[in-house]
Amino acid sequence: MRIQDGVYWYKEKGFLDANTYVIKDEITLLIDPGLENYLGLRLEEMREGGIDARDIDLITLTHLHPDHCDATAALKDISGAKIALPSSQLEYLDIMTEEASRFIGIGNAKKFEVDLVLEESLNLGNTELRILHTPGHSPESICFYASDKKILICGDLVFEKSVGRTDLPFGNEEELKSSINTVSALDTELLLPGHGAIIEGCSNVKRNYEFVREFYLKHPHSRL
Ligand SMILES: [Zn+2]
Repeated sequence: MRIQDGVYWYKEKGFLDANTYVIKDEITLLIDPGLENYLGLRLEEMREGGIDARDIDLITLTHLHPDHCDATAALKDISGAKIALPSSQLEYLDIMTEEASRFIGIGNAKKFEVDLVLEESLNLGNTELRILHTPGHSPESICFYASDKKILICGDLVFEKSVGRTDLPFGNEEELKSSINTVSALDTELLLPGHGAIIEGCSNVKRNYEFVREFYLKHPHSRL
């Protein structure tokens, strides 16, 4: 589904899947391919909206949990796209995919070769994405921020009326709080999380940060 010029959202398809985002520019980037079981459905949905798998130039990940990255290897095969990850994710590539998959109980995520290392920003042509290190939900979690479009793709850091869990391997509640504080200072019109609904409009995004600050960050131990 097209949500803005050149920006597409493919909603999670079911259990243990994640939202996928595509930014179509001179370089077409896909963020979080999701669970491999749903890849066929996702590609079909993309095709209906005019994007073929072979149009994808780059695949990247918000973090290395299997619900976000399981289909990475398969999508690379189908699309011929290159995989670009930040160095923080390269460090955790093996341990995180194994530990998190075991914890979640779906077996090891498929291994894939990384082609490029993401630095502080990624230029897609007319869109410049800043890569923000936002640990907490997991240590290698990143967000993508397009300041001209005021878009934040935030993985499992923050959701509509909720925040990322920190009980998965290497999760850290204090880091999650601090990462949410960092991103909440960004001027954001479109908040695109890894699960659930997207949030549109500056005031709705702001209200959502206020809500999670009140209900999750001030009294984290009241969370059940
Ligand atoms: Zn996750």
